Amino acid sequence: MREGELIKVWGVFVKKSDFKLNLDAEHVTGVAEGVLANEKTYGLKLCPCRLRDGSRERDLELICPCNFKIQDAWREKGQCWCGLFEKK
Ligand code: SF4
Repeated sequence: MREGELIKVWGVFVKKSDFKLNLDAEHVTGVAEGVLANEKTYGLKLCPCRLRDGSRERDLELICPCNFKIQDAWREKGQCWCGLFEKK
C-alpha cells in the first residue's frame, strides 16, 4: 500500500463521523509514511508518534487508527495524538 491509498482509506473512515482528517495535507502524508514504515518494520500499521514497548498488548493499542477519543490530546486539543484526525 502507498501513502495515497492509505489516505483514501482514512478519508472513507472519517465519513459520517464527528471528526475529519487534518487539513494540512503534508502532515497527513507524513503520518501515512510513518505508519507504512512501521508496517514494513513491524508488520502492523502502528502509530508513528507513540513509542512501542515491544509487547503485543502495546502494539494493539498503537494500530492506526487507534482509540484516539480516549486520549487526553483529543479532550484538550480536539486532535488525536499525532494530529491526524481532528474534531469537525
Ligand atoms: S494517534 Fe492518530 S495517528 Fe496515531 S494511531 Fe491514533 S489515530 Fe493513528
